[in-house]
Amino acid sequence: MRSDVKNVIYVDNNATTCVAPEVRDVIQPYLGEKYGNPSSMYTFGGKISKDIDHARQQVANLLGCSAQEIVFTSCGTESDNAAIRGTIESYPEKKHIITTRVEHPAVLNVAKYVELRGWEVTYLDLDSSGRLDPEQLFKSLRKDTALVSIMWANNEIGNIFPVLEMGKVVKENGSVFHVDAVQAAGKIPINVKGSPIDLLSISGHKIHAPKGIGVLYVKRGTKFRPLMIGGHQEHGRRGGTENVPYIAGIGEACRLAMENLDHEDTVVRKMRDHLEKRILEEVPSASLNGDPENRLPNTTNISFEFVEGEAILLMLDRKGICASSGSACTSGSLEPSHVLRAMGVPFTKAHGSTRFSMSRYNNMEEMDTIVEVIKPAIARLREMSPGVEQMAKA
Ligand code: PLP
Repeated sequence: MRSDVKNVIYVDNNATTCVAPEVRDVIQPYLGEKYGNPSSMYTFGGKISKDIDHARQQVANLLGCSAQEIVFTSCGTESDNAAIRGTIESYPEKKHIITTRVEHPAVLNVAKYVELRGWEVTYLDLDSSGRLDPEQLFKSLRKDTALVSIMWANNEIGNIFPVLEMGKVVKENGSVFHVDAVQAAGKIPINVKGSPIDLLSISGHKIHAPKGIGVLYVKRGTKFRPLMIGGHQEHGRRGGTENVPYIAGIGEACRLAMENLDHEDTVVRKMRDHLEKRILEEVPSASLNGDPENRLPNTTNISFEFVEGEAILLMLDRKGICASSGSACTSGSLEPSHVLRAMGVPFTKAHGSTRFSMSRYNNMEEMDTIVEVIKPAIARLREMSPGVEQMAKA
């Protein structure tokens, strides 16, 4: 499989993905003749509501739940917001929530928001490989813990967290368990049936559907207050006329994701391992961030010591390679990512971290091209900025 963008090697699939051609084909009629409102009484609209039912079932198949437990939203961020804010509103007497230090801002900033409004938040720590200790969670649970929100897999380092093991104890404590599976969906199997997960978020644009569509799984019987209050859509769980084209699109994307799970685990994993092995062996002072074993098959996060991540990205960009860095330029200074900081990655390593995230649209040849580009690029950057090395010694 190849993406249809020429002269670009796109290895930033944890940021977003290309829309699969099959998904584009499914969406097309809803931008043309199939424009009816699914809530209308006439057949023209009614037929479209059947198409939504079909997409809902396709999503449910990927997650292992029933179609009635699927709520369509506008993105992963909305799903996370709806899960957290909907839960704390449902349990006003419980004033404590638990999450981790390495969640996406869609969870972390909501936690900070509710903290400012009087809730207590416990942030779980990680070890230097980015692993979570379930014991830490068990000790943090309280009688008034309304919600525990833990991501299934981390977007920056790809670590997979033991959500099923942790969720069991969360349920024994009588708390609601939300899992942000935005990065896990389509990359590793997900089966919520019989699991301790009450709420689970996914996002279309991470699984080869367009940007602007997400899903929240709400286990039957879970107390839930809608974030978006309006019409009766989504059985009163999310007001607003349905985004029919993208709902149909995410349905198809989920069908394709299921079909390709094995490919992710074998072919994509092999590509990732090949790229990682070559870089670690052939580039001096390069090291892996994250858990070498328990990781998404498509993700590798590598630190190139004494080089700035942004400079690496610019060098890669000149050769048409799209990757991402573990530091963000905030107010003129390069701030290492909150994930690498939480893992205690030293400054000189965190600064030069680069994430490569592959998809089924990449190939092995591209992995070798990346290595051939990155080797001289890192050498050149180190020549150009000996000052960074001195900074490390200071
Ligand atoms: N959660 C995780 C783990 C993510 O990686 C992202 C996006 O990068 C989101 C939530 C937000 O999803 P969206 O971009 O659809 O709002």
